[in-house]
Amino acid sequence: MPELPEVQTTTSGLSKVLPKQTIKDIWTDWPKMFYQHGDTLLTNEVVFHNFKKALIGAKVVSVSRRGKNIIFILSNGYAFIVHMRMTGHLLYGKYIYKNKKWIPKEEGPLNDPYNRFIHVVLTLSSGNKMVFCDTRKFGRFDLEKADTIKHSPRLSHLGPEPLEPAFTLKVFTERLSIRPRGKIKPVLLDQRTVAGIGNIYSDEMLWLSGIHPESQVSKISPEKIKTLFSEMKKVLKSGISFGGDSMSDYRNILGERGKFQEKHNAYRKTGKKCSKKGCDGIIVRKMVGGRSSHFCSKHQKLFK
Ligand SMILES: [Zn+2]
Repeated sequence: MPELPEVQTTTSGLSKVLPKQTIKDIWTDWPKMFYQHGDTLLTNEVVFHNFKKALIGAKVVSVSRRGKNIIFILSNGYAFIVHMRMTGHLLYGKYIYKNKKWIPKEEGPLNDPYNRFIHVVLTLSSGNKMVFCDTRKFGRFDLEKADTIKHSPRLSHLGPEPLEPAFTLKVFTERLSIRPRGKIKPVLLDQRTVAGIGNIYSDEMLWLSGIHPESQVSKISPEKIKTLFSEMKKVLKSGISFGGDSMSDYRNILGERGKFQEKHNAYRKTGKKCSKKGCDGIIVRKMVGGRSSHFCSKHQKLFK
């Protein structure tokens, strides 16, 4: 699932090309992806019709990120939120509709097989399209009003943004205290703790910090919490600087792979020798809180 660095990579890409463009049309073959704040009784088809009415003719004012959500603010008071969920990603470029399929107009990374599963297409005034590609079709589009978007149930529960200056060690410690008896791995995945962390980056930051994923939050030493706080920021920034992680379906808006998957020390390194200097441990995989967790059998200390 795309996490903060991947969602940020997509957001940065789109915020360079979308603002000031007018949305000319929106197409889908999967209306089930469409939701509307406050209207849970409407069918997905009606919601998609409402989406169409709200979006067509509106200009994109801004594209921003909150947690794993991408927020599009429009010129007419509407807004929408895209969550890429498991396998979704947004692409941008020239497409043509041929034999009931959207295909890139030119050769290049948009033709990567992972970019074939197109279920939503926005036509823009430049002639380019923003398309949503999603193998498993779990992604979602939520229609919102721009002035009340902060209260959207998609956003209102989210914890602080870990890369913002306001996110201090004190704030992190306070957020962790919401679930003191929880295990650190599921607590990091809980979007109320910190926004934007998922399975890959939580495994990597715990490996870097030397903390076992099953450690009980309240038992972890303050020094280790401090280490985790700084490793979290470092690893998320590193994910962004490598253009995100493309071990799975994620691609940037041009259809290109990120490179963070080449930098993993723990995630999906099961059976490999630990790459930490001087450590002779082995990376093991274990289910923790219902999610697979990868960690070193030796240097990641279990606090309990
Ligand atoms: Zn190790």
